[in-house]
Amino acid sequence: MNNAIDFSKTPVTEIYGCNSFSNAVMKEWLPKSTFKELLAVQAGEKELPLDVADVVAGAMKAWAIQKGATHFTHWFHPLTGLTAEKHDSFIAPTADGEVLMEFSGKELIKGEPDASSFPSGGLRATFEARGYTAWDVTSPAFLKQDPTGTTLCIPTAFFSYYGHALDKKVPLLRSMDCLGKQAMRILKALGNDTIKRVITTVGPEQEYFLVDKKYFDDRPDLMLTGRTVFGSMPAKGQEMEDHYFGAINARVAAFMRELNYELWKVGVAAKTQHNEVAPNQFELAPIYSMTNVAVDGNQLAMETIKKVANRHGMEALLHEKPFAGVNGSGKHNNWSLATDTGLNLLEPGANPESNARFLLFIAAIVEAVDRYALLLRSSTAIAGNDHRLGANEAPPAIISVFFGDQLCEILDGIADGKAHSAKGNHRIELGVTSLPTLPIDISDRNRTSPFAFTGNKFEFRMVGSSQSIATPNTYLNTAVAQVLSEFADKLEQAPDKIIAINDIIKESYGKHRKVVFNGNGYSDEWVKEAARRGLPNIRSTVDALPILVQKETIELFEKHKVLTKAESESRYHIYLEKYSKQINIEAGVMVDMGKRIIFPAASAFAASLARDAGSLAAIGAASSSIEKRAKRIAELSGEIYDETDRLERSLIEAQDTDEPFIQAKAYREKVVPQMVALRAKVDAVEKLVEKKAWPLPTYEELLFKL
Ligand code: ADP
Ligand code: MG
Repeated sequence: MNNAIDFSKTPVTEIYGCNSFSNAVMKEWLPKSTFKELLAVQAGEKELPLDVADVVAGAMKAWAIQKGATHFTHWFHPLTGLTAEKHDSFIAPTADGEVLMEFSGKELIKGEPDASSFPSGGLRATFEARGYTAWDVTSPAFLKQDPTGTTLCIPTAFFSYYGHALDKKVPLLRSMDCLGKQAMRILKALGNDTIKRVITTVGPEQEYFLVDKKYFDDRPDLMLTGRTVFGSMPAKGQEMEDHYFGAINARVAAFMRELNYELWKVGVAAKTQHNEVAPNQFELAPIYSMTNVAVDGNQLAMETIKKVANRHGMEALLHEKPFAGVNGSGKHNNWSLATDTGLNLLEPGANPESNARFLLFIAAIVEAVDRYALLLRSSTAIAGNDHRLGANEAPPAIISVFFGDQLCEILDGIADGKAHSAKGNHRIELGVTSLPTLPIDISDRNRTSPFAFTGNKFEFRMVGSSQSIATPNTYLNTAVAQVLSEFADKLEQAPDKIIAINDIIKESYGKHRKVVFNGNGYSDEWVKEAARRGLPNIRSTVDALPILVQKETIELFEKHKVLTKAESESRYHIYLEKYSKQINIEAGVMVDMGKRIIFPAASAFAASLARDAGSLAAIGAASSSIEKRAKRIAELSGEIYDETDRLERSLIEAQDTDEPFIQAKAYREKVVPQMVALRAKVDAVEKLVEKKAWPLPTYEELLFKL
């Protein structure tokens, strides 16, 4: 692959979407009537008839083959959080030994991967291995190209023989549906008769680290766990704030150019790129799209970041905390509601009607975030994120909403029953005057809030960098749908809508404004203040997950047909097990490295110092400093030996536990603290061992050399 893509020869307008079977391409390749029917299916107005699917499949096949495809795959999102694919070729041999290239409507809309090895949390015994995939018609099929071939990828949802969701896509689509329905009820009650559909939009900002492959390859911890389990900080970290938005170095710039090129080809609208806060940390943000498309795009982005980094002799780390001592990586989930008429429902209004609507939706979201804070928190609960949330870095584990003073003043005014004077002397009376236009950046300054209003959307900042954004959005959509449904119940009955809106906001915001916080989310005062307000502060995955199987949660998801009880319970078990497995691997890697790499190197170095000390003493030049150092390193080596032993024992104890929650708790409470204890000793000895004798690439090399 060339590193210098010449966009003057191949203009972006030609490259963009060239490997995506987008609506524009479909329009070109499908008969008019088929295309029209497909649009109706996409809009949720009807199911896809098989004869239409046959025509679409034929066109898709012709398009893909003409671009060099030999295989197709249903591409799906199992509960591993990654994506999965199983390729089938188009070939259909004929009786006389030739071959046709075939692809039917049936193959397009439904697949049956033998998917017995994906986590199902007990929903599907392995002997009943049937799992089905079904085409998500709203997310375009795309071509994956590698140097030797091309595969047609069809975004699909994955479910069991009995219709249980086995993936992250099915509940997401269901949640988009239920939120759309409830939002439509509100709009109808407000007298709208032009808007037909409400969808959720998402733009995920993706953070990641890059490291040179030659260092990565010598770090078993990075290779097996995605993070460094040992490593002491060099004299310099991120304190100079010289990396954030700094000039992008040539090697990284070449990587980014190729990354954009690859993403643009499949129709992922990569837009913004920059250096992040920590050294060798970067960010990529695409232009937002409908949530399910954004989820697919983000999974593709993560995969492509890794692939392209490799071509440039680097490894991309998507882990939430690859390095201790510098910032970890997250994913900012920018989220809003849009109508089929092109309206952003979270755009502050320009006239009394849109004011009222805007404030009503905002109030519903605040209430949802307050009432379902635990659920939102749990959607970000994975082992990697435990190093970020509640561990003195962005954002805190306490869920709060940031608005900026101006919006707060308006909402407080309504809640307190006061006609209000906002900044600039606008008299704000709901429905009487228009809201002042809120400049987008007035609310964009707060960087510490986990759920911030940024002018015309909310930014949920707790999501981990390696996570699929499907689950956080599923929970968020459902929580907001529930509150909107309660608002709609009241609104539909009310004779005077303006009075009703006022009353609804007054009651809701009055009760839930405790979740609003405009100050510094990192401060200790906020932790105390949040406790006073009764806001939960859940620091670990193990404590965050059980909300999934609480009665109210199960009822919420059942009511909106997002997850059945069995689906919620299975997910709970899968997430607990995933946590335990992750810690088990990390601790196992530590034991292995402790015994076979660190201890031998440190004790050998102590012994070599001791020999040096002996030789010097023999010529009458005894060096007490060499002796002291040898002793200290020998001591630390002994401690490392003991701590490794202890870690191994706690690991065996945790492994012997059966019940998933108790096991996860054992990992959290017994294994994790022992990992911390061992790491402290190893990082201390690293600082004493001569650089040449240290067996691992250092933080200096990993963080500052590219
Ligand atoms: P910042 O880093 O300042 O928060 P970025 O420009 O990096 O902002 O990212 C903002 C993200 O929000 C982009 O992905 C953008 O497309 C997305 N976004 C903008 N408007 C909306 C919207 N209405 N709904 C969802 N996402 C949006
Ligand atoms: Mg950004």
